[in-house]
Amino acid sequence: MQVDILTLFPDMFKGPFESGIVKRAQERSLIKIRIINIRDFSVDKHRTVDDYPFGGGGGMVMKAAPIAGAVRFTDPAGQARVILTCPQGRVFDQKLAWELAQEHHLVIVCGRYEGVDERIRETLITDEISIGNFVLTGGEIPALVLVDAVARLLPGALGAAGAAANDSFSTGLLEHPQYTRPEVWEGRRVPPVLLSGDHEAIRLWRRRESLARTLKRRPDLLATAELCSEDLRLLAEIQREAERDGDQLFH
Ligand code: SAM
Repeated sequence: MQVDILTLFPDMFKGPFESGIVKRAQERSLIKIRIINIRDFSVDKHRTVDDYPFGGGGGMVMKAAPIAGAVRFTDPAGQARVILTCPQGRVFDQKLAWELAQEHHLVIVCGRYEGVDERIRETLITDEISIGNFVLTGGEIPALVLVDAVARLLPGALGAAGAAANDSFSTGLLEHPQYTRPEVWEGRRVPPVLLSGDHEAIRLWRRRESLARTLKRRPDLLATAELCSEDLRLLAEIQREAERDGDQLFH
């Protein structure tokens, strides 16, 4: 996958892609990340990239021409998915991360100031993506979030094959709790089933925990999760136990 990040602040990308799984994915040639300075595509002698908004009001707006120049340079054939980071866009989630992980070429435009000239959205942008219902100062952090979430889904990026498939949200549910050594830490013991070596019992325990967590913390996810008859039986069991124990969180 080729990812081009178009930004006015290229220095913000020094570091985050140079460690961990994203670094390894680049070393394995699973992903190639280029940081492109939009200012290099400014057409006037002062290398201007922003200007006052027509109609007045505070703040500056990113000019169309430098962004268009950068997009056309990175994607001359017009075949890439050109993403504008934007608080008004589709809210990013794991489903969209999986969708983007299927692409060959992503161009990510990082907005700044009051945002970009509307005509950029109309002509060059294929997707507008928000990372949540809040407003940041620029699109660089959202671009980092997107690339991090997508890179780890590329085949071969994670150590354990299939690890990403069990992540929270990938299955439509939150993931089960995880434990590592020691077996007892500050008097707290790892659930015995995880030490049993009984793979079926472990699978069932994890599924039950995953369902219980989702029911407790994010019941909204259950409305769209794919649930089999075993899940429905486990959910009924979890709910019966919670009612018996007077667990208010389930009501
Ligand atoms: N005036 C814009 C509005 O109200 O929609 C907000 C502009 S914001 C200060 C500057 C830039 O930060 C945006 O163009 C966008 O690229 C980025 N940005 C801010 N919040 C974001 C979010 N939640 N998700 C994605 N990008 C965001």
